[in-house]
Amino acid sequence: MKTKRELVVVGGGPAGLAAALEAHKKGVKDILLIERDEYLGGILQQCIHNGFGLDYFNEELTGPEYAERFIDELKDKNIDVQLKTMVIDINEEKLITALSSKDGIEFIEAESIILAMGCRERTREAIRIPGTRPAGVMTAGAAQRYINIEGYLPGREIVILGSGDIGLIMARRLALEGADVKGVFEIMPYSSGLVRNKVQCLDDFGIPLYLQQTVAKIYGQKRVEAVDIVEVDDNLNQITETKKTIQCDTLLLSVGLIPENELSQQANISLDDITGGPIVDQTRETDIPGVFACGNVLQVHDLVDNVSEESEIAGKAAAEYLLNDQEKEIEQALEVSAGENITYVVPHTLNLNSKTDPIIELFFRVKDPAEDCKISIKDNKEELASYTRPIVEPGEIESVKLPVKLINKDSNEIIVELITGGE
Ligand SMILES: Cc1cc2nc3c(=O)[nH]c(=O)nc-3n(C[C@H](O)[C@H](O)[C@H](O)COP(=O)(O)OP(=O)(O)OC[C@H]3O[C@@H](n4cnc5c(N)ncnc54)[C@H](O)[C@@H]3O)c2cc1C
Repeated sequence: MKTKRELVVVGGGPAGLAAALEAHKKGVKDILLIERDEYLGGILQQCIHNGFGLDYFNEELTGPEYAERFIDELKDKNIDVQLKTMVIDINEEKLITALSSKDGIEFIEAESIILAMGCRERTREAIRIPGTRPAGVMTAGAAQRYINIEGYLPGREIVILGSGDIGLIMARRLALEGADVKGVFEIMPYSSGLVRNKVQCLDDFGIPLYLQQTVAKIYGQKRVEAVDIVEVDDNLNQITETKKTIQCDTLLLSVGLIPENELSQQANISLDDITGGPIVDQTRETDIPGVFACGNVLQVHDLVDNVSEESEIAGKAAAEYLLNDQEKEIEQALEVSAGENITYVVPHTLNLNSKTDPIIELFFRVKDPAEDCKISIKDNKEELASYTRPIVEPGEIESVKLPVKLINKDSNEIIVELITGGE
């Protein structure tokens, strides 16, 4: 079966939902949202803890509550939703191949596409922990799905590796279910999760966080029986003489998320080596005109509120692409790059014209924690703007709002830098 569509949104998580709604609001009539799972809402459906929506709704919601706001809004709109359907290919001509048990293989010619496929967790294989391969080693998100959706307790004596938000939240969740959480072990000298999650999920539950330590080996035949923990030096080398063995039946891994960009790669969209997401301009358009990306498939976000805001930018831009000018007029093109002490910046380019919003928000992560510092935005000649920050952490996305009027007309690059130590 082959059909034609104006806009296809791939992924029905918060990014896909917000993007589809915004495109509809801006006048796109023909929208198809494709989701491989049996329900909309993405990862939010398994996040039954609160803390969602503080920025976007000014309220504290659980994940399913946050998702429900968007799902409810979708109901009376003329947006087609196809659940239990997996997009398996996208090509450069925006031809989508989708697969479902109901309809089999379907080909969709899209005029515009919004990529909103989210991300997946890194596994034991990705970080190569030696030892046997028993049951009981799983990602923290998988454990969350077992407890919150399937109703299974994944283990009773738990070691968690990685202090990302998912690991911190699962430490609390397992403690609430009566499991003995022996500690969260983090290879870096700082937690990679939000400060508020460290306080609310570990400190409030008396769960220790051990920094600069990692799992060196897993023991057990059928089921995990123990793990070896070692300290690491400043170069992340294991200090073998510090090895200690901890008895446990479960090892949860919270060691990073990888944007799901296999489809983007198939379509030959250029990806950023650092974020793992597509290279985009300020409208979240990729290097294929009419293909946009937003949410965790673009960059791993800390807060869903930022996902919704970013996805509205992509939805609005897709509508402008479809309804106004498919050939975007570009008056000034700039590269945006990560300077001193910055890991990456999104968007990667600025394509400016008379219709560009007067303020562009730049999102980035810092390399190391710092206090009383300054974010400097420069071009190749001078500083355009600077913003002070009392504290910055690599675990938290930072952003600055740059007024477009500050950008020099003859400039072709923007550099974001973190200035520390009163330099
Ligand atoms: C454990 C955990 C705890 C979190 N806690 C918080 C918190 O306390 N507060 C907060 O603000 N944020 C939190 N977040 C972050 C927030 O949930 C994410 O930022 C947000 O869900 C990302 O939205 P998304 O739509 O980009 O991705 P997702 O929610 O992952 O949605 C992507 C969707 O795309 C679908 N999909 C992927 N590939 C295909 C394909 N090929 N075909 C069809 N469909 C496809 C997936 O099935 C999925 O439904 C948490 C995240 C996790 C994992």
